[in-house]
Amino acid sequence: MNAATLRQEFSISRYPLALTGAGISVASGLPTFDIAWKGVPVREILTRDFFFAKPEMFFELYREILGWTNATPNAAHKVLASYDATIITQNIDGLHGKAGSKNVLEMHGNLRLLNCESCQKQYPSDKVIGEKMPYCSCGQMLKPDVVLFGDAIHDWEQAIKQAEKCDLMLVIGTSLQVAPVNMLPAIAQRNNAKVVIINEDCESLFKELL
Ligand SMILES: [Zn+2]
Repeated sequence: MNAATLRQEFSISRYPLALTGAGISVASGLPTFDIAWKGVPVREILTRDFFFAKPEMFFELYREILGWTNATPNAAHKVLASYDATIITQNIDGLHGKAGSKNVLEMHGNLRLLNCESCQKQYPSDKVIGEKMPYCSCGQMLKPDVVLFGDAIHDWEQAIKQAEKCDLMLVIGTSLQVAPVNMLPAIAQRNNAKVVIINEDCESLFKELL
């Protein structure tokens, strides 16, 4: 896929959609989760089991990850926003929203909020700065609005509807190894959408479209 072809696809699409993963944010300086923290693979920490077993260590890492909210959108986020593409993302960094995208489904949640699983109240995530452990006014320990392994993903019904509705689906920066997200391109194809996979060097491709 080159920039001219992609521009052409956008120009004939009436309902473009982008399905994005960690690869789209690499150019914004964000790491993927294939790293270890204090000797423990981050993928092991970001699980429901770990959260309830060692919440203090979990929140220590979470505070560091919150620093990601200072990252800024790159060319790919900006171009998708400028074409008004619907976004279905596996990312929690909030960069699509920052770039100005209006219709964003954050299937793995976000770093902006903390949830009470007992009374459903929500708090801004900066509550964890300065508080060792964040608690709800009802007494329950708060949990980040980030989908951990073991949690149900968010907005799945909506994601299916959008995949059925789009006529162009760009799959960007994700190897689509995670179910059920990896079913969405097939759903789009079944409904006659064109599916385009962009994994290599998406930053320079999108820079040409800015
Ligand atoms: Zn509560």
